[in-house]
Amino acid sequence: MDMEIESCEPIDMEESTPNPAHREPPSIRRLDEAVVNRIAAGEVIQRPVSAVKELIENSIDAGSTSISVLVKDGGLKLIQVSDDGHGIRYEDLPILCERHTTSKLSKFEDLLSIKSMGFRGEALASMTYVGHVTVTTITKGQLHGYRATYKDGVMENEPKACAAVKGTQIMIENLFYNMAARRKSLQNSADDYPKIVDLICRFAIHHTNVNFSCRKHGAARADVNSVATSSRLDAIRSVYGVSVAQNLLSIEASDDDPSNSVFEMDGFISNSNYAAKKITMVLFINDRLVECGALKRAIEIIYAATLPKASKPFIYMSIKLPPEHIDVNVHPTKREVSLLNQEVIIEKIQSVLESKLRNSNESRTFQEQKVPVRKMVRTDSQDPAGRLHAYLQVKPSSQLQGTSSLASVRSSIRQRRNPRETADLTSIQELTREIDSSCHSELLDIVGNCSYIGMADDVFALLQHNTHLYLANVVNLSKELMYQQVLRRFAHFSAIQLSDPAPLPDLIMLALKEQDLDSEGNENDDLKEKIAEMNTELIKQRAEMLEEYFGIYVDQNGNLSRLPIVLDQYTPDMDRVPELILCLGNDVNWDDEKICFQTIAAAIGNFYAFNPPLLPNPSGDGLQFYKKVPSTTSEDGNASGSADDSKEEEIEQELLSEAESAWSQREWSIQHVLFPSMRLFLKPPTSMATNGTFVKVASLEKLYKIFERC
Ligand code: ADP
Ligand code: MG
Repeated sequence: MDMEIESCEPIDMEESTPNPAHREPPSIRRLDEAVVNRIAAGEVIQRPVSAVKELIENSIDAGSTSISVLVKDGGLKLIQVSDDGHGIRYEDLPILCERHTTSKLSKFEDLLSIKSMGFRGEALASMTYVGHVTVTTITKGQLHGYRATYKDGVMENEPKACAAVKGTQIMIENLFYNMAARRKSLQNSADDYPKIVDLICRFAIHHTNVNFSCRKHGAARADVNSVATSSRLDAIRSVYGVSVAQNLLSIEASDDDPSNSVFEMDGFISNSNYAAKKITMVLFINDRLVECGALKRAIEIIYAATLPKASKPFIYMSIKLPPEHIDVNVHPTKREVSLLNQEVIIEKIQSVLESKLRNSNESRTFQEQKVPVRKMVRTDSQDPAGRLHAYLQVKPSSQLQGTSSLASVRSSIRQRRNPRETADLTSIQELTREIDSSCHSELLDIVGNCSYIGMADDVFALLQHNTHLYLANVVNLSKELMYQQVLRRFAHFSAIQLSDPAPLPDLIMLALKEQDLDSEGNENDDLKEKIAEMNTELIKQRAEMLEEYFGIYVDQNGNLSRLPIVLDQYTPDMDRVPELILCLGNDVNWDDEKICFQTIAAAIGNFYAFNPPLLPNPSGDGLQFYKKVPSTTSEDGNASGSADDSKEEEIEQELLSEAESAWSQREWSIQHVLFPSMRLFLKPPTSMATNGTFVKVASLEKLYKIFERC
């Protein structure tokens, strides 16, 4: 087919007498099929390591017990994979490398159940479009084997008889010989050999019944040499070394409830003694090596929250699922997957990991990172923010005493999954679609890939993304994150249980009085009581909906007893409950379903946001707030002036330490809960690019240049 494309001059729009030749559009031609195939093949086989992965999977599928890999020039010159599997029949050799030829499925239904792995029968074909492929194979009971070479999907000549040992050897030479740009960029980048070694290590610890070896061409020794064993731990020891194997805990989780999730998981995770520079996550789903970013980040969150010093773990996990529950949604060779009921599965796995890590740590002295829930409830009556403790104690349970806060938050959670298909309400779908469609891709990249440096002040965090520094408003960001989470969890909330139900009228009164303090307004108490009564009535009327969709539980007597969990591992500031209730009464538009859901989600989002604590920040001007008021000026004889000999500079120690802990707790949560969760879940709306939520403060490149000049 003719590949030349006619050169075509730009059309001059001003020309008064148009030249008919110029009017003609450039002719559209079908691309040469080989070119199309090459482009497609380049997508399946992106780099040498992806070819190795396909070849090894084929060898495993062929029932091999021994697979050896030889690599020359990072795989660009040669990749050779030899196995002792069942081999390939002589009569199949001619079509072996045609597209969509496979021995692994035949019916359409088969395809449905393994479609998850994508690109069936495409790997070998793809390799022949981007490299020179030679196959040597022998099947059981044959005296000799055959060798054939392939190009562009076609066998080049009749298979030649040759001597062969059991199994198949596939050789790819000169990978990307016909893709100059790809070849060049791969030659420039660090070569793929370390990636190939890493890949084989991963296979070796999952397929423990197979011996794997990997060697660089010309090297005397193999870089991986695993020996088949019945013990996974032995396999990990032989591949990753004693230092990894001795610091592992075994884990297991499963669920078998079709309305919830169906899966089995087992694996090994590193303990608090394991220290590494980066996370190693080896994940097999239905025996296929895959990546699942959401699960990986969820595990990172658990480590950061539980073992901050060992927060780059080693994880090996094998998950078994009904095949139709897996969806491959990113690149076929990367095998990034998402799972049906992913959130439920991830949550289950998280909680198993968390309790395992905590238990393993019990005997050690363990630096508690989160303030226990019971400490979040204020008990000091002088505390200006402490008036709620009468209502808002989280139910004390035996686990709550002394042990970790995460565990105790969880123990106070009552699982209330609602199996009803409420999420197909169109208004919710519309709202979530709006989130997707207004997502700002650049900000998404920043949020997803930035590193958190620290808090610049009470509201702005300093972030680095590539060579740029940004200030990001954590209050705005967390409001948006929580809003989005409320919509995602719609009708599927877990709950925080209040130990003593709180009467709505009292909560609303508190909120109204708080507003008075802020605005110097002074509505009389009768009016406030009237408002409180009316709002209580209003909320009571909507109680069923609030419970079912939003996990806010108000009983018939108008007492609040449960709140939704919007973000795991995070308990909101209970002092802001009155504000939430007042918002529900005042700010929600109950007439239009969509606006109603939107405003409720926003109210819950505001409640959950990482607002600055109500106590002023003591590390700054706020400190003066904690100085004791001299007794002489205290005429009402309240407790703050009770010390007769108080000097002006004396500090309310208890209040101060409470404030310090609230602020450091918040900062810790911003780093270890908010940012990891934003990476996972936040879709920043376009408005954030211009409303001051993100402010670019510096380009490091420019700074370096300035430093250089100095
Ligand atoms: P798929 O693995 O999706 O079937 P491939 O293109 O990777 O597609 O392989 C095509 C077919 O070639 C396989 O279905 C299998 O029958 C055969 N094959 C490939 N590699 C081997 C091997 N190492 N041993 C035996 N058969 C193989
Ligand atoms: Mg294959």
